[in-house]
Amino acid sequence: MRVGFGYDVHAFARGRPLILCGVEIPFELGLKGHSDADVATHALIDALLGAAGLGDIGEHFPDTDEAFRGVSSLVLLEKCLSLLEQEGFRFVNADLTIVCERPKLGPYKEAMRQRLAQVLSCSPKDVNIKGKTTEKLGFTGRGEGIAAYAVALITHAT
Ligand code: MG
Repeated sequence: MRVGFGYDVHAFARGRPLILCGVEIPFELGLKGHSDADVATHALIDALLGAAGLGDIGEHFPDTDEAFRGVSSLVLLEKCLSLLEQEGFRFVNADLTIVCERPKLGPYKEAMRQRLAQVLSCSPKDVNIKGKTTEKLGFTGRGEGIAAYAVALITHAT
């Protein structure tokens, strides 16, 4: 068993959709970024790469690469899983915390879980999603962006 941790932040931007864990969330702001700026999936990818000892998302999917402009982060997650498989690892479970004051994530958590479980080929029980606020403190509290944390467990495939 190997564990990894991931963290990511994206700033809010006008005129972009808000995508979290591959799910479009109805909100007046989206997130700034080179890909679809899915901050939660980025944290998960970093957790998985970390668990496998494979570096970080920027090394594998640089934001200078035109191939990744506007790409769904679920595509990056699929590529990340292939990298893990090549190294002989299989996904066990992950736990994500998404931090923002708004929008309220409660109504979308189940959809996010289902979406990630599809890509990870696991039960929705194996990808937990938590929404948190920071009680109006800090950049998330001021509504400047969204932060996400993830831990993931992987194991050597037998
Ligand atoms: Mg990111």
